[in-house]
Amino acid sequence: MSNERGAIAFAERVLALLAQARATSTYKYAVLLGLIDVCLERVDRTGHAPEMVTTRQLAEKVLELYWPHTVPFGASAPRVLHQNRSGKAEILTLIEEFRRQHARDPSAPLSRAERSAPRAHRALIENIEWKLVEMPLPRLQRFGAQDDRFIYQIDWDEHIKRRAFTGTDFSNAIRFVSGAGEHLVRLAGLLRPLLQRRWAADVASLNDDLVKDAELEEFLFGSQRIALGAVCDHLRELQGGRCFYCDGQLRKPQVDHFIPWARVPINAIENLVVADQACNGGKRDHLAATGHVERWSARLRDHGPDLRQIAEFAGWQQAPERVLGVARAAYLLLAPSALLWSELRSREQVFVAPDLPKLRRALA
Ligand SMILES: [Zn+2]
Repeated sequence: MSNERGAIAFAERVLALLAQARATSTYKYAVLLGLIDVCLERVDRTGHAPEMVTTRQLAEKVLELYWPHTVPFGASAPRVLHQNRSGKAEILTLIEEFRRQHARDPSAPLSRAERSAPRAHRALIENIEWKLVEMPLPRLQRFGAQDDRFIYQIDWDEHIKRRAFTGTDFSNAIRFVSGAGEHLVRLAGLLRPLLQRRWAADVASLNDDLVKDAELEEFLFGSQRIALGAVCDHLRELQGGRCFYCDGQLRKPQVDHFIPWARVPINAIENLVVADQACNGGKRDHLAATGHVERWSARLRDHGPDLRQIAEFAGWQQAPERVLGVARAAYLLLAPSALLWSELRSREQVFVAPDLPKLRRALA
């Protein structure tokens, strides 16, 4: 695979990783941005990214990233913003505690705090490193129950104990999978604003009493303001009262954009299916697996008149050709390593690789 195609396939997998059900904390953004920065700073004189970095180097970066976040935010009743869905993100708590004891001036740069309290600063780094080792690093590259280690390999899993971490045998290497370091470096300019934007959006939604930004993006680019309810009952009837994805009986149907709205905002009737809450919530912004595409394209082929009727009845947009074009754009250029959402099985989201010959046939 050429470098360009490799980089694009890599970027697609990062997007899939970000499309996962929202994590309980913002750690995944901190780890990804931290890895990018550590990589960029270690590009050698021939232009090559490092093959590995250490958890210590990552911890230093993650501290730099979270440092400004631990200053209270807001004009009337300022507070440190939440970055965790339940309770506090522990890394933030560690940094807040350090600030309280050693850097009370909120505008103090990290470097000054480091100089004035070197031992406490070292302990802080080590505690952050441990939190990264224990939590986000073993879990970051997980899709449902599967690990897809497309960025890095590490020698431990989430069952590691602090004793093992502090022991002499612990290998603190984060070894990049072949090409991943280069991809992070090459894609930094694209990934950084994306990661920062997602991070900010998550923080806004975790602090919606204080930060109103979440509404703005929804207002400008969201799909929620268009009342999909107008077509929900008709689509449900067309699907025989069953979930498009799992064929289960639909109790509370939700309208889903088959080609995700986050990828291509297209509201035409052909792009809408109804699903139960579990399937809709699992699929989120992912592309659906090959079998779903086959059923979807069969519906487009066999139920064109029904879809047209629904659209006319509900005053809805129809655009079979455009929707098919968008589906081809989304699927036919996929890398074989891409992961598509398949189903919820035993409460785990299952992701599978695309079957490109079948996709080509289905979308012909
Ligand atoms: Zn379902």
